[in-house]
Amino acid sequence: MKAMENWNTKVLPSDDESIAQAAALLQAGEVVGFPTETVYGLAANAYDTKAVAKIFKAKGRPQDNPLIVHIASLDMLSPLVSEVPELAKKLAKAFWPGPMTMILPKSDRIPDAVSAGLSTVGIRYPSSETARKMILASGLPLAAPSGNLSGHPSPTTAAHMLHDMNGRIPMIIDGGECEVGLESTVILVKPDRVRLLRPGGITVEMLEEICPVEVDNGVLHAVAPDAKVASPGMKYRHYAPVAEVTIVEGSLPAFDRYMQQQARDGVYAMVFDGDEKGLPVPALPFGKEGHPEDQAYRLFDLLRKCDDLGAKKVFVRSPDQSGIGLAVYNRLLRAAAFRIVKLEDEE
Ligand code: AMP
Ligand code: MG
Repeated sequence: MKAMENWNTKVLPSDDESIAQAAALLQAGEVVGFPTETVYGLAANAYDTKAVAKIFKAKGRPQDNPLIVHIASLDMLSPLVSEVPELAKKLAKAFWPGPMTMILPKSDRIPDAVSAGLSTVGIRYPSSETARKMILASGLPLAAPSGNLSGHPSPTTAAHMLHDMNGRIPMIIDGGECEVGLESTVILVKPDRVRLLRPGGITVEMLEEICPVEVDNGVLHAVAPDAKVASPGMKYRHYAPVAEVTIVEGSLPAFDRYMQQQARDGVYAMVFDGDEKGLPVPALPFGKEGHPEDQAYRLFDLLRKCDDLGAKKVFVRSPDQSGIGLAVYNRLLRAAAFRIVKLEDEE
């Protein structure tokens, strides 16, 4: 195996020639960075334990955090799982290809390295054309987590991924900016309902059109490091820039007053478009208020910008939690290590 940090990482355009090169690397047991509609991923052959180990090494990912396996046709599903419940078929029909991962009982072909020793496996069928072409060209189910160093914000551009993975992997396919900007919705499929483990682009409201949805406690609450959780990814620090992030709840006037007290060098604010005026600190526009898809699209890029700017503290106006807003809030809570300030309006 090639030593870590020894690759001359190539960033190639998303064309047939690059996809053929990526497929050859994957077949040879190497890892490749690729775009999906959610975030950039770091892929390897899901059947190859040694290839999968390279993902964990390149990311510095804890071994007990399982990987999602990506497919590009419904025919690819059955070898990966021991059964496909009726509800899973209905959900697949409604939301695949798309940003939804279903946790299903795994088949014997899934190595423990992928499932982190669990009896289940997460499966996703992405809608991104490049992702689908890469899966089909390799002829392999691809295990792929987000393509960031563990703990960093997920990459939503090839440049983000290169920043984290330069020298650590042979290739990244550049497919431009990711459409959704946040990782997939993760659901545990039960016979008559689903449990939401991680919110994402397929929203609670959309899932409820198909079946009842239980929202796991870990979606909006901190999980103790030693707790037994449905989804191991819940307990890790995530999405965090170097700066200390704080979520601020309350009206815009209350936020403005609070920022007057907080203003000093290295302090930044993430606010809704048009709300920058009169703030005593530099503002990073976070999309239109009430448009959570804007916040989803921008969140990880803005968190990375905070590092580029050398921000020490970032105060973020709390986004609307409906639709994909729940996913934005879930990622922000982790970026902020659950630091929330609740402001009262003045009488
Ligand atoms: P990432 O690969 O960075 O998008 O993270 C994948 C997420 O899916 C993590 O939070 C994992 O803990 C979760 N996940 C993957 N496979 C399973 C599984 N079999 N059971 C529960 N959660 C899973
Ligand atoms: Mg991740």
